Amino acid sequence: MTHSLNGRSVIVTGGSRGIGRGIAQVFADAGARVAIVARHADQAAAAAAAIGKGAIGLGADVTRRDSLEAAFGVVADRFGQIDVLCANAGIFPAARLETMSEADWDQVIDTNLKGTFLSVQAAIPHLKRSDQGRIVLTSSITGPVTGFPGWTHYGASKAGQLGFMRTACMELAKYRITVNAVMPGNIITEGLAGMGEDYQNAMAASIPLGCLGTVADIGHAALYFASKEAGYVTGQTIVVDGGQILPESLDALAQA
Ligand code: NAP
Repeated sequence: MTHSLNGRSVIVTGGSRGIGRGIAQVFADAGARVAIVARHADQAAAAAAAIGKGAIGLGADVTRRDSLEAAFGVVADRFGQIDVLCANAGIFPAARLETMSEADWDQVIDTNLKGTFLSVQAAIPHLKRSDQGRIVLTSSITGPVTGFPGWTHYGASKAGQLGFMRTACMELAKYRITVNAVMPGNIITEGLAGMGEDYQNAMAASIPLGCLGTVADIGHAALYFASKEAGYVTGQTIVVDGGQILPESLDALAQA
């Protein structure tokens, strides 16, 4: 089934590159007017120009309430409404637990978890006016399901998003706003592509489907949650990882 977002207005935080850029493209291809939000306004505008189809790019920092409110206000003025928020902006700098500073911790939690809270809160007044209000979070398998050395703070932030979601969806249900989350596995982004083919092959070897995911794979999962057809789905997650979390051991994968 192909889901249509014809005439719907969508904000994608962190949409200037990577997964957010993929979500923005899939939504634009499904007929939505897309607003890309990132700290670097020039990169957000460049991504929007590349997508075309009326997409716009704006500068805003998800760690700052005033910045988000101003940007979302501009989107509402330009598009006349906001129907969907894809709260996707996130960072993943590695730091080992024994040497992690408070600043390391705060930076990741502020962007990924507090940034989710602030983005959702800034969107609520706009989404309440929509007859198809949708919030789609980009979480991860890392934290909610798996662990990865160097990412205690990141894993906590990604698991925290799901805890946030499970109460947010209840509080917003009276406005018919749904809140759901996509949990990506290893997805090919510009950053990962730059790490070379050997690195990608090594990662692909741990995935039953034998390859990394694409940003469009995540975009299509987000599109389902944003669709009219998903109107009765809230507080739920979908893992998009090529089966990566399933093998009990390397031997199980080798025997498959
Ligand atoms: P990415 O390529 O590094 O892109 C991150 C995006 O977020 C950029 O547009 C960046 O633009 C924006 N951003 C960062 N900090 C921001 C802030 N404070 N305010 C506003 N925008 C901000 O990252 P990605 O790999 O696509 O990851 C996107 C999301 O997917 C994250 O939530 C990540 O946790 C999740 N995820 C990724 C993977 C993966 O394999 N890539 C797997 C699981 C989950 P500016 O720098 O201009 O702000």
